[in-house]
This record gives sequence, C-alpha cells and structure tokens, in this order.
Amino acid sequence: MPELPEVETVKRGITPITTGKKITSIFVGKKDLRWPIPKSIKKDLRGLTCKEPKRRGKYILIPLSNKQILLSHLGMSGSFRIYSNRPKFQKHDHFALGFESDEWLVFGDPRRFGYIDVFSEEYVTSHRFLKNLGVEPLSNDFNSDYLMARTAGKNCTIKSFLLDQTKIAGIGNIYASEALFDAKISPKRQAKTIKGKRAKRLVTSIKTILLQAIEAGGTSLRNHIQPRGELGYFVQSLKIYGRSGNPCFNCGSVVKEFKQTGRTTFYCSLCQR
Ligand SMILES: [Zn+2]
Repeated sequence: MPELPEVETVKRGITPITTGKKITSIFVGKKDLRWPIPKSIKKDLRGLTCKEPKRRGKYILIPLSNKQILLSHLGMSGSFRIYSNRPKFQKHDHFALGFESDEWLVFGDPRRFGYIDVFSEEYVTSHRFLKNLGVEPLSNDFNSDYLMARTAGKNCTIKSFLLDQTKIAGIGNIYASEALFDAKISPKRQAKTIKGKRAKRLVTSIKTILLQAIEAGGTSLRNHIQPRGELGYFVQSLKIYGRSGNPCFNCGSVVKEFKQTGRTTFYCSLCQR
C-alpha cells in the first residue's frame, strides 16, 4: 500500500504533465472505485487548466483554474501512467485526463480501493477525507513537542500511534516499522513513555526514513518513467520490514514479527527498547 513517500513520488511524477495544462478530454470507467467518481466530473473538468499538484498525507490534490480541486487517493493498488498521446484504455483503468498537448494521465487500480473526487477549494480543510488528517511529518509542525503533547495520557503503543492518520498523516505499516527500528524504539512501547531525547530521536528517524524513501522514489522515477509510463512504486531498501527470520543488520540477532492491531510488525527485540 502506498505511503507518503510513494505518493510524493507520484505527485512529483505527474507534476510536469499536469501543471499549466488544459484538460480537453476526460475518461471515466464503468466500475466504481471505493467511492463513486462524481457524475458531473466530465462536465466539471473540461476546459480547465491544472495548477501544480500538492500532497496532503496520502492524497494528491490538483488545484484547477476554476478554484476547484481534483483529489486522488491510490488506495491499495492505484497508480498513474503517462502517455504522449491517447492510449488504449486497459481493464483496470478507471479515470483519465487528456490534455490539449495530447498527453494523457491515466489512473488504474485493479483492487479499486483508490478514489477520485472534485470539490471546491474552500472545502480543502473541511472535506470529509481531509478534515481529520494529522500533522505532515516532514513539516516543522511535527517535532518532539507535538509528539509528546499528542501521546500524553494515551494508552496506546507507539506503533499504533504512528499509524493513526488523525495524529500524523501519511505513515503506514512499512515506514512506521522502519522509523521505530532506526530510532531503536520497541513497537510495543507505550507511546506516552516516549519523551525527551527518545522523542527527538524518533522524530528525526521518521523524517530521515521518509526523506530517504522519497529520494529513492525520485531515482526510480528517472529510471522508470520513460519505458512504460508507470509511476508510483519502487523497490525500497528496507532494514526491518519483511525481514523476520533474518539477522538484524545492527546486531545479528533474528528479526521477529508479531501481529499488532491487525498489522504485522517487524522488530529486533535486542536493538529496540
Ligand atoms: Zn538488532
């Protein structure tokens, strides 16, 4: 499932094809996504010009020339593809924009957990998907004071705190596991016990891990974009996620896994306390 770095990579990938481009054609597939694509979308978007895409959590927001916003979420398996002229749409293509330049941006999603919406920009903070989103982890608003204030008095583990999109937006299972390993903090630790230096360390680890992944995504974008036009997924170099049974890169002891609120957590019981 795409997390913040993958979504940021996709956003950067679609920026050159959308920014300043006029929409002349809109394709909507027959099947619904997680939520139906607004029926009026063809009428709403035709003739508008896209402004530079933005990201909020795992959402990509494309501001439009009439003060509306085109929102997309990749869900579990969504991806964008870019074409230099009108493509033959495939089975899992659900939405596409054609531009005056004849370029196309196509949204495909085999599992259809993704979604597309259009709304007026005045609702950007009150829209049902956006209004409860927590802080952007790469912003200055996310710091150890924020972390300590939000975890104080709460009875939850730090792992489930990091996954809570209403506290921090965009982190999922992979990068929560990686950040906790980097910060040498056990995923089982109570969130409220993370204070002082440990809180600073965790904040630094989260930012570092996300930035490294975005950088890796950028590299993959350059290698990836020309042949097939697909954006969005890249091979991450993960240090703990998915490595149960293998030796920890730090200490050599065996990486463990267990289920935590329905998600598999990977950790080293020696390094992470
Ligand atoms: Zn270890």
